[in-house]
Amino acid sequence: MSTKIDHIGIVVHDIRQALKVYHQALGLSLQEIVEVPDQQVRVAFLLLGESNVELVQPTSDDTGIAKFLDRRGEGIHHICVEVDDIEAALARLEAHEVQLIDKVPRQGAHGRVAFIHPKGAHGVLIELVEHEG
Ligand code: ZN
Repeated sequence: MSTKIDHIGIVVHDIRQALKVYHQALGLSLQEIVEVPDQQVRVAFLLLGESNVELVQPTSDDTGIAKFLDRRGEGIHHICVEVDDIEAALARLEAHEVQLIDKVPRQGAHGRVAFIHPKGAHGVLIELVEHEG
């Protein structure tokens, strides 16, 4: 059902500044920078083995991730697990009474995504992704 860690999400104030460390200094290969209007964020994906580092910069002040950045500062925000079938994964989590943020998948940068509430996952915000194609 779950195949691998798709990416680790790191929330930052300024993607350009963060790329100086993650891309230029650490040497991770920059895949792309994309806007995700649904989630009001700009994200950069950097390849790391079979997974990615996702730098996330909020583009509005009133989203959950903007408030997280305000309250907690920059740092690891979520871990994303790739799944084959996101509806099946959500149904299974609901059957186990795990608290979800999204009961229905929404459109992410690279496919449909849904978030598990940190209260349901021992303090970790987990994103599920089902890739297109
Ligand atoms: Zn993510």
